[in-house]
Amino acid sequence: MSSLPRVPLDALTTLATAEDLRAALARPATPSTPPGTRPGVRSGRVPHNKRREAGGATDAAVWERIKDHPCYSEDAHHDFARMHVAVAPVCNIQCHYCNRKHDCANESRPGVTSARLTPEQAVRRVLTVAAQVPQLSVVGVAGPGDALYDAERTLRTFELLRAEMPDLTLCVSTNGLALPDRVAALKALDVDHVTVTINFMDPEIGAAIHPWIFHDHRRWTGREAARILHERQMEGLEAAVAAGMLVKVNSVLIPGINDAHLIEVNQAVRAKGAFLHNVMPLISDPAHGTHFGLTGQRGPTPAEVHRAREALGEDARLMRHCRQCRADAVGMLGEDRCQDVTLDPVDDVAPRPDPEVRAAYRAVVDSARAERAAAAARADALVEAVAAGTEAPRLVAVCSRGGGRVNLHFGKATEFHVYQVDGAGIRFSGVRRADNYCLGGRGDADRLGTILTVLEGVDAVVCVKIGDGPRRRLEAAGLAVHEDGRHEVIETVIAAWLADEAAAPVRARA
Ligand code: SF4
Ligand code: SF4
Repeated sequence: MSSLPRVPLDALTTLATAEDLRAALARPATPSTPPGTRPGVRSGRVPHNKRREAGGATDAAVWERIKDHPCYSEDAHHDFARMHVAVAPVCNIQCHYCNRKHDCANESRPGVTSARLTPEQAVRRVLTVAAQVPQLSVVGVAGPGDALYDAERTLRTFELLRAEMPDLTLCVSTNGLALPDRVAALKALDVDHVTVTINFMDPEIGAAIHPWIFHDHRRWTGREAARILHERQMEGLEAAVAAGMLVKVNSVLIPGINDAHLIEVNQAVRAKGAFLHNVMPLISDPAHGTHFGLTGQRGPTPAEVHRAREALGEDARLMRHCRQCRADAVGMLGEDRCQDVTLDPVDDVAPRPDPEVRAAYRAVVDSARAERAAAAARADALVEAVAAGTEAPRLVAVCSRGGGRVNLHFGKATEFHVYQVDGAGIRFSGVRRADNYCLGGRGDADRLGTILTVLEGVDAVVCVKIGDGPRRRLEAAGLAVHEDGRHEVIETVIAAWLADEAAAPVRARA
């Protein structure tokens, strides 16, 4: 175990070995505190960029439950990794965005097929990964079918994992049809985080997305199938919330079918106690062989996703950093390392994760978080001073490979972290994905065209470095470009860009 961590964490790039992480234990750790009570943050005020975290909650008990979960906390996704294990092979419903040959598209990137695992194989894989990736904090079952239809395999996996690695957070993702029957069993295994995909409230709309379900020993179709699915989803959501679980609701945004309806979905699931709502774009490709792919149903553009989320309002409790991962995803969100990590040890004895190294990693993250929170609070104050009275919010696309820092060249970015900036501060808005511009040292003009489409509605791009050619194309398209090579905290760099922009007319007059 001499080359930890395998997944780079930019804020901690000087810590590359287990020995470094152990050395971190010798230093007093900064206590982990909920947003709003962190060092450097003005008393009684949640930083603007964290106000939507946990639905605005500053409750310390809730923060403890999400602070290491890269999906439930936007802050945690800078530092922690998750892993899906594909142990649930069968499904009890049909979605028009799935052809059942691939993994469950409700929590995974459509078109990807992962190796089916037994619970015992899954546990060996988790132990193998955890021994190499101290960032691993969450293991979830999200398919390849429905995790709770054939629940025995899912529950057995959780049972084995609980015994082997008690510090892991266990997570399950389901279409909700079987959820009411499984809440008690999940609760008994201390599964604290449940995701339910809910695409509709109105059965008419539901029937256009889910043509049939299998329930109560028979197959149901059309409006009746959608009505039963809806009732079971609501019942399961209420039961999970009543059991004290944190429930995330995924909704697939399908233009022309449920896009205008998602306001109703958001209001209903919030009223029933959902903790987060993840509005994710339909990915529709004829090559995937799905009904929507083959009938030409398009997915939304990044700008449409942004507008749909904004339409849900300030209090929508949105998850905005979902990457629609593979069902066998391993690593930090947005940087899947499932190919890099050795997943098939030849012997039957899986490597043992070192608890001391895992604890050391968390201590180091605590320090990095405190530093980030203080920098974000200073940036917020600067932005409030500079942008006071600004009417329209600005959108800034940041090139980052993690750690909450601007630490990537434009040409290497495969995703842009988009932040909204206005007189009230800096707030994370979402992630937009595109193939990287630079290939083998040369730029690709076609890819730049696609990137410009992906960046529709964005005002500025912030990165470590950018070539003259792409800079000119971006500027010609009306985007400002800001380079900053210090690998600073994202909010710090955005505030510096805004201050520069504000000073530019003054400099021009002088
Ligand atoms: S619930 Fe998942 S596996 Fe089942 S049909 Fe829908 S997307 Fe496919
Ligand atoms: S698909 Fe979204 S919610 Fe699920 S693990 Fe990936 S980022 Fe998290």
